[in-house]
Amino acid sequence: MLWSLAFAAAAFLVLGLLRQGSPCNPDQPRWFGRDMGVDVLWWLLSFVLYGNLTVILTRLVLQGLYGADGPRLFQAIQAGRGALSHLPVLVQAGLVIFLVDVIQYWLHRAFHTRWLWPFHAIHHSPRELDWTATWRIHPVNFVFYETVAGVLTLLLGCSPQALVIVVPFNFFSAAFVHANLNWTFGPFRYVLASPVFHRWHHASDPAIHDKNFAPTFPFLDVMFGTFHMPKGQLPDAYGAEGVPTDMLGQLAHPFVAIGQMLGRARAARASEAAARP
Ligand SMILES: [Zn+2]
Ligand SMILES: [Zn+2]
Repeated sequence: MLWSLAFAAAAFLVLGLLRQGSPCNPDQPRWFGRDMGVDVLWWLLSFVLYGNLTVILTRLVLQGLYGADGPRLFQAIQAGRGALSHLPVLVQAGLVIFLVDVIQYWLHRAFHTRWLWPFHAIHHSPRELDWTATWRIHPVNFVFYETVAGVLTLLLGCSPQALVIVVPFNFFSAAFVHANLNWTFGPFRYVLASPVFHRWHHASDPAIHDKNFAPTFPFLDVMFGTFHMPKGQLPDAYGAEGVPTDMLGQLAHPFVAIGQMLGRARAARASEAAARP
């Protein structure tokens, strides 16, 4: 918990200061956005609950895959005796970051489809987008992302030192791509995700709703036809329709929305049946 507090304080200072010089959306608040209270609650939830939840689910999945050998495998890898642990630490870290990116690209696309969207809409709900919204992720969304990433990392058998690099990298890059910065990385725009790349992903315009899914490597979006970063333009409106502004409302939103969708589908089927001769 202490390191995450230190990280948040550093992000507040560094990203806040950078934003003064090169904002993507200068009309957004400089330091304290309107939604900061809700974002702090989501941040607390993610650090208190999500880490433990991910470890528990990762263990359960490994047990499902390997039966009685699951716990032994978990311990061996934690002790640094996994399949990839003989490779240089930086190579291991690079492999993990790349493979998790490919998986999360497709998981992210799945969360943009009709029935999963209500869970992911929470992450898209801020109308003022800044790094503080990074952890506004519904538990169902988070568990899918992190358990898949956790299981893969363990199955690859990295040494714990590689995870020491990957975890802070993921935290930093996730906060950075949400920051209110007009950075595009110029010619490297296809290589590494920049704030402008991910801010386009949060644009409220339905025409560009399903673009820029990759967490770290935009060339995945180029390969799969979802890259969107028009030169000389910046996104300026963000948000998702119909999501409550308070945290409890946001936690309940997917279940309420899916219930309403099921109700509408049932009503449509009933009226179709009634119209049949
Ligand atoms: Zn999304
Ligand atoms: Zn995002």
